[in-house]
This record gives sequence, structure tokens and C-alpha cells, in this order.
Amino acid sequence: MTTDTAVDDPAGPADRYDVLVVGAGFAGMYLIHKLRALGFTVHAVEAAGSVGGTWYWNRYPGARCDVASLEYSYSFSEPLQQEWEWTERFAAQPEILRYAEHVADRFDLRRDITFDTRIRTADFDERAGLWRLRADGGRTFVGRFLITAVGCLSAARTPDWPGQRDFTGPIYHTGQWPHHEVDFTGQRVAVVGTGSSGIQVIPPIAEQAAHLTVFQRTANFSLPTRNRPLLPGEQADVKARYPQIRAMMRDNPRALHRRTGKGVLQVPEQVRRAELEQRWRDGEVSFLTAFTDVLTDADANRAVADFVREKIRATVTDPVVAELLCPQGHPIGTKRICRDTGYFETFNRDDVDLVDVRSEPIVELTPGGVRTSRREYPVDAVVFATGYDAMTGALTRIDIRGRGGRSLRQVWADGPRSYLGLAVAGFPNMFTVTGPGSPSVLVNVIMAIEQHVEWLAELLGHLRDRGVTRVEADPGHQDAWVAHVADLAAATLYPQADSWFIGANVPGKPRVFLPYVGGLDRYRRRCDEIAAAGYPGLRFDDPAPDPYPAPDPTPTSDPVV
Ligand code: NAP
Repeated sequence: MTTDTAVDDPAGPADRYDVLVVGAGFAGMYLIHKLRALGFTVHAVEAAGSVGGTWYWNRYPGARCDVASLEYSYSFSEPLQQEWEWTERFAAQPEILRYAEHVADRFDLRRDITFDTRIRTADFDERAGLWRLRADGGRTFVGRFLITAVGCLSAARTPDWPGQRDFTGPIYHTGQWPHHEVDFTGQRVAVVGTGSSGIQVIPPIAEQAAHLTVFQRTANFSLPTRNRPLLPGEQADVKARYPQIRAMMRDNPRALHRRTGKGVLQVPEQVRRAELEQRWRDGEVSFLTAFTDVLTDADANRAVADFVREKIRATVTDPVVAELLCPQGHPIGTKRICRDTGYFETFNRDDVDLVDVRSEPIVELTPGGVRTSRREYPVDAVVFATGYDAMTGALTRIDIRGRGGRSLRQVWADGPRSYLGLAVAGFPNMFTVTGPGSPSVLVNVIMAIEQHVEWLAELLGHLRDRGVTRVEADPGHQDAWVAHVADLAAATLYPQADSWFIGANVPGKPRVFLPYVGGLDRYRRRCDEIAAAGYPGLRFDDPAPDPYPAPDPTPTSDPVV
């Protein structure tokens, strides 16, 4: 299915491929490797200056993965997983970025990536059956298939308080950290946000700055990471057993390799306590994987949440601050659980203050500080750890247009609709790796990426073998999948939290639970069954009537050729 390498385009000559990929993080890199090996011409366009995606951008102090390094890594190449040496139990950002760069070099991926180029529009030309992507600066790429590999947490969000432009110091976002070293020595710093990023960045900033003020809206559950160098022999042991370990991970809902299989309330209190204590002490894996019912049974959840609140109270010496840091109002795990190194201890320092912005909302930034409803806090620098327009933001920030010029933004205005989190009715030949409706952010995401890439590669091979040039999700199957994803979420405690999983962090975003909670193991089996049955939810060269009858008020763009 190799197409010509150049076509005429109203915007000038365009590069043309079988498959266009947006993004060169872990998903984009594996797509290039996998599809190239199958003989497809494939090209990725990446906004960053190099590979690595989230690990390219998140250079903030303390950035570290909370999945064990030996598990948060590609499994597709045995030589790769044997040769790469991890130094720490939970790798820090620079090491993961080095790993991504090693993968890019080892598999010679860079020759099929255009860096420093952000895609702004993607249009499907129905007559030609081709996608045309336009980048900043006007460069155009044309391809038969479009696969988005844009990441679930890459569209950063910052507050827009009055006075932000007038603040005289620097303002940072954890997800867009500068490439040069940021030195807070002697400075008064404000950190806004206490999610996973805030909880990681706060301790190292407190170490360096003259004074740190943390602005907290919602206290979060966080477990100690207990990071350490990998012990001699530990890595060799895992490498010797990698095939078995990876097989266990593939058969695990979260694509990790340990769980107890028991419910919290099924074990006597002493046993439960001992299990939680051991996990707290060892930082082995999250409590959510220790027991089977934490996310489905309110009493089980409360028992685990109470244990963590007890630990916070025992760590933080000022009882008023301790209470403010104790999460209330959402079950543990229904907002993404955080992992930290010395987070709660940081609030015992004399040079760190905690401001509760629920009782004292931020009103504006002044030239020299942050003003709340109560007072002004003078600061020299502001760090936003305020999160992302998760799972859909990176897609809807591109003006993607499918059949009839229909825009993805409009089609998803009431919440994303997707078949398997991979394909969208009305958007032929487009696939979304770790898209909404897939396990993605609820599991070890590299394993989720591998599952998607391998399934898509098999599908594209299947289409090529049969001479199919156009594939599209069937609207009926899509509706059924959307309902299934919603039903699974409704049977859990997740919808009780105002989390980014449900879009609650973005004003106006529809409240739709975004990821698939059924587990990567179950999801994989379903995808495999669908492939074995000849892809019943996909229409081959057989478009359905317009699945979105309401007119699209926005204009369509020019045809490709
Ligand atoms: P996040 O979890 O969405 O946290 C954002 C924080 O900013 C929340 O505390 C939020 O409060 C607060 N916030 C947002 N807007 C605010 C405003 N206008 N005023 C005051 N506070 C505001 O974002 P994140 O910490 O960047 O993490 C996102 C996800 O990335 C994580 O859940 C995780 O999946 C991933 N991540 C993983 C790691 C790791 O592996 N260790 C590290 C970093 C990130 P509310 O809760 O009240 O909205």
C-alpha cells in the first residue's frame, strides 16, 4: 500500500505517506517501528524538539514515574529490555527521556519524524480518501491513515486570573518546564496545585527556595514512593524472568505485576492493616491494586482512606495543617492517587506555608505576588501544577475534520464518542492511540500503547491484504461501546470525584467518564475477539449514512488534491 511520496496541494508540495502519526512519544515511536517493519511508509510529526512525549516536557524538579522502571518500559523487543540498564526502582524524568532517546536511536526512528512542528489542522478528503495535515508554518503532510499519538495528559491548563500578565517574575507550568536549569535559590515561590505533579515538585522547591507557599484547592491521597537504587541482582533477576513477568502484566487489569485478589472487607482487620502497613513501608504498589474492592465498595474504600489519613496526621506536626492535608469528600483512588517523596514532611518546615484556596480563593496575581480574598502573598516566581485538559484536549486542540467537513470538536461537544477508544464514526481512516474509552491512564500506559499499536498494525495489514482503502467505526457499535464504558464506570466509586478522569477540572467540559475501567486484560481480550471475528465494529469501504445528522456550522477546508 505504498503511495507516492509527493502530491500537489493548494498549499504547495506535500509529503505523502501510508500512515501519518501525530506525536513521537512512546506511542508514536512504537507506531513508526511497528508499521515500518510491515512495509508501510509512516511519518510522525512532533511539536517537541525530540522524542519522549510527556517525558520530554515534564522536566520539573522531582518528576519521576510511579510505575516501577522495569515495568514502565517497552516489552516488544527482548534485546532492548535486556540491554537497557535502569538505575532506580522508579526512574526520574531524565532517565526515562534517555531511554526514549536510546529507543529512537536503536531503531533509527528519527529519520521518520519531523520535530519542532505542531499540527494545527487535519482534514479528510472524501474523494481522494486521504488525510491532509497542516502544521504551524504551513507545511503539509498527506497520508491514507491518520493515527494520533498525542498523549492523554499533554494539553496543559493554566488558570487565567486577572493580573497574570503583570506579574513581574517567571511563571512556569510543570508540563511545559524550560530546558534550562531553573534556580529558585533565595526566592519566594508559589506552587498552585497539589495533584501528582504538585506533590512531586513541592519538596525539591522547598529544599531550594527561601520560602514556599503552596496553594491547595483539593487535598490528595499520596503514598510514599520509597524510591531507591535498584539492588545488585534485582535487575538481573527481573531480566531473567521477563517473559513470565510480561505475561503476568498482560494478564493483569492494570498491566502491573502484583495484586492480592482479596477484598478489603474479606480479610480480618489485623491482616488488612498488616498488608497496608507493609505497602506503606515498602512503597511496593498502590493500595488500589492491593485489594480488589477499593474502587467499588464504599466501606472498603473508607477503611483504606482512613489508613492514609492516619498516616498524614502522624506525619504533619501542626494539627491544623494536617487536617487541611487530609483528603475529604472523594473516595481514595477516584482521583488519580499520587506518589511522593517527603511531601507531607515538607509541611513541617518553617519556610513552607499551606493556603487553602477553598476558604481563601485566589483573586489575582499582582506584579509581586498572589492575592487571595484575605491577603497578598509576595512571591518571586509562580509554578502552576494545575494539570491538563485530559484525554480529549490534545485531540480537540487540533482542528480535525472528518466526512462532510464535520469537526471532531463539534462531534464530541457533549463528550467523546469512540469505538474501543480507537476509532470515531464519521472520521474514516483515523485512529486514536490511548483515546477516550480505552484503558490508557488507568493502567501502565506503555503496555496500553503496545496493545493499541499491535492491534492497529494487524488491522492495517488486514486492510492491505484485502485491498480495503477506507475503514470507519460503525455508529451502532460505537454507541454500544460508549454505553459499555459508561456502565462500567457507573458501577465504581470513580464518578463520585470531581476528577480529570471525568472532565471536572475543565470548566464547561461535559461530565463523562473518559477512560475504560474494565482493565487492560479484559480490554485486550475484547479487542482480540473483535479482530478474530473480522472487525465487526468497523465498516470497510462502506460508509454509514452521516452518523451526526445535525449540520456543522463551521466551514470545511479545501480538498487534498
Ligand atoms: P492534576 O492531577 O489535574 O492536578 C492539578 C492540581 O491543580 C489539582 O490539585 C487542582 O485542584 C489544582 N488546580 C487546578 N486549577 C486550579 C485553580 N484554578 N486554582 C487552584 N488549584 C487549581 O494535574 P497533575 O498533577 O499535573 O497530574 C495529572 C496527571 O498526570 C496525574 O493524575 C497522573 O496521571 C499524571 N502524572 C503522573 C506522575 C507520576 O507518574 N508520578 C507525575 C505527574 C503527573 P483540584 O483537584 O481541586 O482540581
